[in-house]
Amino acid sequence: MLTAKTKTGKTICLGYDYKRETLLYFRNREEFICPVCGEDLSLKLGNQRIYHFAHKKGSVCREIYENESVYHMEGKRQLYQWLIRQRIPSVLEYYDPEIKQRPDIMFKHNGMKYALEYQCSTLSEDVFLKRTQSYIQHGYIPLWIIGSKNIKSKRNSILSLSGFDYMFLRESNQHQFTIPSYCPEKRHFVILGSIQPYSTKNALAQVDTYPINSASLDGVLHPKITNKIDIFQWNQIVERYNINWSFHPSPEKKRFLYEIYNHGLNLYLLPPEIGLPVPQSLHLLTPPTIWQTYIYIDNFINLNSGDYIHLKDVERNFNKRIKRKEINSRNILQITEQNPFMAVVEYLFLLEKVGYLKQDGKTIFRMVNKIKIPKSNRERDELKQVFFQINKKLLAKI
Ligand SMILES: [Zn+2]
Repeated sequence: MLTAKTKTGKTICLGYDYKRETLLYFRNREEFICPVCGEDLSLKLGNQRIYHFAHKKGSVCREIYENESVYHMEGKRQLYQWLIRQRIPSVLEYYDPEIKQRPDIMFKHNGMKYALEYQCSTLSEDVFLKRTQSYIQHGYIPLWIIGSKNIKSKRNSILSLSGFDYMFLRESNQHQFTIPSYCPEKRHFVILGSIQPYSTKNALAQVDTYPINSASLDGVLHPKITNKIDIFQWNQIVERYNINWSFHPSPEKKRFLYEIYNHGLNLYLLPPEIGLPVPQSLHLLTPPTIWQTYIYIDNFINLNSGDYIHLKDVERNFNKRIKRKEINSRNILQITEQNPFMAVVEYLFLLEKVGYLKQDGKTIFRMVNKIKIPKSNRERDELKQVFFQINKKLLAKI
């Protein structure tokens, strides 16, 4: 840990850059105690790890707080200094006795109290949720920042995101979903935005880095994401992904292949309107190609131009798929309004924008153009080329 009290009641915070001589001086004259449990602490001034306080062996506190890595301690120290530089009242390792929690940093900003948790090691969903709820109940806004090393980048804006990574997803005041991360080695924030999962594990995302020296707190809380997606790149990734899993489909995907086959469809000959990116598809674990094919089968396949689609029927069909676990939702812990059906609503509106549906009343759509199913690879490529070219701009703004 980085904060201790002395027996005379002073607080020593190693968030500041003390010189080694100064700390040696302190160490020879003071005795340090833990602000949480009151036990004795020793001040470690080794060369390998950063300067820190440590409990004696066998302490309970040690179990809870002291498996901190250098990466984590260095990160929270840099984040603390960053807040102080912006003249934001902050306390490093603030202990709130009422909730018995010690966020890495407590700070006050625009009349609000924040609990910053810089998390580098994995944490169970239960613990994450409990801490988050306890902060909210006691008037804190939780700000969870993940250590950048936890985020696995594959190549060109393709990321492999685990359930743990998704816990950090937060909504900005512009209703954009971002994952904030910080790297103490490179001294920059890495903010993920426009996150578009194309499979349960992988997503296309915009990765923006902000050096800590020029980043502002508001820029991290509410980053401006341009929300752009290259539909041609997206399509390429989705096609490649579909080919890959089709060689060794899981039981769930086998069931999908079997069902579409029974409807005269083929995974490789899906129309360009199936498998499109929509922002709320974050709420679904099921890949867009699969859930959008189910929407098509359940609601559109037998319709002709002029036929009506009622939103409540689409929702009922969707809920049946959810119940049968053919479509699975992703639990996003920090987003309070979770409704996976929003992804479907967005998809319907997208189909309206590209000219297949027309809204006819608040919850009714009319099919104005029938979706054409390609019969050969060549026809599929031609349909895709035309569709993406015409709707390139519209599909880029997600
Ligand atoms: Zn303690």
